[in-house]
Amino acid sequence: MSELATLLRALEFAAHKHQGQRRKGRDGAPYINHPISVADTIARVGRVTDIVTLTAAVLHDTVEDTATTLDEIEREFGAEVRQVVAELTDDKRLPKEERKRLQVVSAPSASRRAKIVKLADKIMNVTDITHDPPVDWPVTRRREYFEWAKRVVEGCRGANAALERRFDKVVADGLASLAGQA
Ligand code: ZN
Repeated sequence: MSELATLLRALEFAAHKHQGQRRKGRDGAPYINHPISVADTIARVGRVTDIVTLTAAVLHDTVEDTATTLDEIEREFGAEVRQVVAELTDDKRLPKEERKRLQVVSAPSASRRAKIVKLADKIMNVTDITHDPPVDWPVTRRREYFEWAKRVVEGCRGANAALERRFDKVVADGLASLAGQA
C-alpha cells in the first residue's frame, strides 16, 4: 500500500470502530473527530511526515475504547504501528487513578513516536476541555485534568518542540480561562 492509502485505510478502520461513539462535549461530536484532529495536529503543527506515527495517531484510541485488538492492528497495519498503539493504550482493568499515574511515569520511556501522539492527544483534549468541556465536569475537575496533562507532557519533552510549545500555549490558555470561573 502507498502511504496515502495506508492513512486512508486507517481513517476508514477507525471510523468504523468508533461508530456511534460521541465526544463528551455539549455538542456530542462524533468520536472520530478526535483522532482525526490528533493526526492533523501532528502533521500541521509538528510537521511530522512519518506514516507510522500518523497511522498510529488515527488508531490511538481504537484498542482502548472499542472492541479492537492489537493483533488486529498488526494484521491490518503492521508491527510498527501495533507497537505505537500498544504504548498508547491504557490497561482498562486497572482503576482510573492508577491508569493516570502510569501515564505520568511511563511517558519518559515511551518511544519518540508514542510521545508525539501523546503530545497531540493532550493538546486536543485540553483544547476541547477549554472550549467545550464535558457537560458534567466542574471547574475543579477541568483544572485537575490540565495539571495532570502537564505532568504527562513533562515526560514527552524532547520529542517535538513545536508540539511542546503548542501544548504550553493551550494549557496556559485553559488555566487562564478557568481562573475567571468559580
Ligand atoms: Zn485520544
